[in-house]
Amino acid sequence: PANPFRWRRVLLKVSGEALRGDGLQNIDPQVTMSIAREVAAITRLGLEVAIVVGGGNFFRGAHWAGASGLDRAAADQIGMMATVMNAIFLQASMESVGVPTRVQTAFRIAEVAEPYIRRRAIRHLEKGRVVIFGAGTGNPFFTTDTAAALRAAEIGAEVVLKATNVDGVYDSDPKKNKKAVLLEHVSYREVAIKGLSVMDITAITLCQENRIPVVVFNLSKAGNISKALSGARIGTLIDG
Ligand code: UDP
Repeated sequence: PANPFRWRRVLLKVSGEALRGDGLQNIDPQVTMSIAREVAAITRLGLEVAIVVGGGNFFRGAHWAGASGLDRAAADQIGMMATVMNAIFLQASMESVGVPTRVQTAFRIAEVAEPYIRRRAIRHLEKGRVVIFGAGTGNPFFTTDTAAALRAAEIGAEVVLKATNVDGVYDSDPKKNKKAVLLEHVSYREVAIKGLSVMDITAITLCQENRIPVVVFNLSKAGNISKALSGARIGTLIDG
């Protein structure tokens, strides 16, 4: 079908923390189902959607490094495996609402998911399948935000849509400063210089170098994913 949206192909970044919702469990099925339903509706209208999922709801390498002799590289491997658990869960949610979905991992877990193969990922997208990228970049010392920027560049996504628990980028920390102002638009440079904590600098730099805009928006409000995917004005736009 003809795609009525602003974008043709998007990369949606979902943090692990967002999957936790308000619940005590690592994953709140209500959150994964609402993501699934909104993504399903939009892909049916012709938008190509790839997803990079984080793992912070289970494990963050930096937090655990040092514990019981765990070095950072090993801790990050556990973190990357956490993202695979989220990817499998999200895939199940997507398929329960009828959207064919493939998981591709940055390192091999052959019995569970496909290995990441760029051309194959693109082919899946062209066929209307959602592709979920697990295991981050496959390398320790990186983040899933950087994986999102990297995969977006590789598959030719026109935008990175970063789903978070806040409405967007603020001029100061809204948790500390009640007068913090939500910015509608901010440049890559400002994010880096002002140290606005939205995305790590590696991820921002990759997006800047490849001219991929980033939209930061709040996932926890119903309908927001559909808005972000369809290209409506929402949250904060980061670009040139
Ligand atoms: N990680 C990694 N390399 C990557 C991506 C992730 O080593 O390319 C590890 C790292 O330990 C990180 C964890 O996986 O803490 C979970 O990813 P992230 O913290 O980015 O998840 P999110 O904050 O989005 O939930």
